[in-house]
Amino acid sequence: MSQDYAFPPPATPALPIAGSDQLFPVRRIYCVGRNYLEHAREMGLGERAPPFFFAKPADAVVPAGTAIPYPPRTDSLHHEIELVVGLRRGGREVEIDHALELVFGYAVGNDLTRRDLQTAAREKGHPWDLSKGCDQSAPVTAIVPVAQCGHPTAGRIWLEVNEVPRQHGDIADMIWSVPEIIAELSTYVALAPGDLIFTGTPAGVGELRPGDRVLGGVEGVGILEHTIVAG
Ligand code: MN
Repeated sequence: MSQDYAFPPPATPALPIAGSDQLFPVRRIYCVGRNYLEHAREMGLGERAPPFFFAKPADAVVPAGTAIPYPPRTDSLHHEIELVVGLRRGGREVEIDHALELVFGYAVGNDLTRRDLQTAAREKGHPWDLSKGCDQSAPVTAIVPVAQCGHPTAGRIWLEVNEVPRQHGDIADMIWSVPEIIAELSTYVALAPGDLIFTGTPAGVGELRPGDRVLGGVEGVGILEHTIVAG
């Protein structure tokens, strides 16, 4: 039976694919929290607690080059440069040894965060959703297929604002590796094609203001550029 919608359904969020005219349709955005020890330290989080997961809405994704309006209800918008994994296959209770078979490719993303709202939520035991899931809070480069970039396990991850270095680290220092992240996440939810996973940020997170130009990258994957404009 064909069924009309009451109003047009939302468009599928999507990202370009490097070297292709096709798009990568985004289903869900998962994120790993505190996956680099130095960032856990700067956030005042326990050093022995394991990483954890949270999510952003799929339509938070925006392509590189976007002028992102400074979001409302915050005076502390933070950058978090991250390696992003895009899945081509799903699964649940995926074994670590088979986890990389799910990966379509890799990208570079900025997990934009309303830090003041996140800190308040943490202190009150409230949900984080609105601190992490603001509109256009997930700028991401084109997805680079595995055939082009392999499965990166080491390489510089960095971010600068107005040409001033802010964040730097190495993806080899992630507490949970990509296969471990996929295996662990798939014990909570059924993963599916189109899922993006932000894998955590190195130390050096900090404030963004309207007028800022953000440039960040992961060696061997790509470079993300976007600006922040007045809200
Ligand atoms: Mn993050």
